[in-house]
Amino acid sequence: MSVFTHPEFDNHEHLSFHCDPETGLRAIIAVHNTSRGPALGGCRMFPYGNDEEALRDVLRLSKGMTYKSALANLDLGGGKSVIIGDPRQHKSEALLEAMGRFLESLGGLYIAAEDSGTSVADLQVMGRHTRHVAGVSSRPGFDGRPSTGDPSPATAYGTFVGIQAAVRHKLGRSDVNDLEGLKVAIQGVGNVGYRLAWHLSEAGAEISVYDIHQDQMERAVSELGARPADAEEILFLPVDVVAPCAMGAVLNDASIAKLQAPIIAGAANNQLARPEHDSALWQQGILYAPDFVINAGGIIDIHYERTGGSPDQVRRHLDGIGETLAEIFRRSERDSRPTGEIANRLAEERFQHYPRVDGV
Ligand code: NAD
Repeated sequence: MSVFTHPEFDNHEHLSFHCDPETGLRAIIAVHNTSRGPALGGCRMFPYGNDEEALRDVLRLSKGMTYKSALANLDLGGGKSVIIGDPRQHKSEALLEAMGRFLESLGGLYIAAEDSGTSVADLQVMGRHTRHVAGVSSRPGFDGRPSTGDPSPATAYGTFVGIQAAVRHKLGRSDVNDLEGLKVAIQGVGNVGYRLAWHLSEAGAEISVYDIHQDQMERAVSELGARPADAEEILFLPVDVVAPCAMGAVLNDASIAKLQAPIIAGAANNQLARPEHDSALWQQGILYAPDFVINAGGIIDIHYERTGGSPDQVRRHLDGIGETLAEIFRRSERDSRPTGEIANRLAEERFQHYPRVDGV
């Protein structure tokens, strides 16, 4: 297993491997870049087929976090950790405590948050041995409601703000708060998608939804007046905005050719099946809000949990997602380049030359 010549290796600053035979813990922490601050990112537990798969994931995901935090203007770097194992079979309190000790051994270089395969409760167990866990405490949320540490409400609001920015840019609606009659198709109405649907329906949008779980879909239909759609049609409806809020890789060779909406703006991670699909969307005249920009609400919320920011501060920062997207859309038009490429470039500007020489 190579590291420095690994295709996903991108001058990562730090890689740690840890094995604890007593608890069965086998984990890797990757810190990609800390020029903006300590690396923060999820701790994923997954039954990787082999060590190579785990290494690939942690290298790729930690780099993604550097870009996400830089574009969200957070004083955070990019990092990620992976625990090799099936969360349903191999997770135990002792293993989580051992992970907590592993986190502590890095002295705060990396801060862990929940991810697939781990929960807030798991992070709290790790937190018995380290302060370097985040998204674990109750406090008033950005909307004044009590928050348990679940980042989904902030992610949903940030996605809503991002849709407003995309609509203003592409459809030329001058009043950013006016979404009256806007047609939006949402794929997946879980923690984020349902709340996004709520914001949109409050703003007067007409929503179509599809979710593989019938009860989730029925909730959006009965409570928000959403129109139920089929699995095969949800991405291809003749609407203004398609918002993928379920799984990744939904923008691929087959789907892009059939899209009718002029805007793709949703919370799902890794929506592009391959990097070149960024360009395919752009060539088709579709405005794509890069997922790692529009879905940064969760990490913004977690940042303020750590630093003790007020609900107002969090909300203002979430509103900044709209401004960052507007800048990406403008630059994309100016330079005639796809939005994902512009977002990557803007992120690099924000973390490669930081802190700025004027000390701001
Ligand atoms: P969730 O599991 O609560 O919701 C996902 C929903 O999608 C579920 O209701 C599920 O039934 C549905 N679904 C799954 N497969 C589907 C399919 N093929 N078609 C339609 N629906 C399908 O997850 P979530 O927290 O709402 O996250 C949604 C997406 O946003 C994920 O890609 C996640 O990685 C991303 N994201 C979430 C956050 C957050 O704060 N929760 C932050 C950043 C990114």
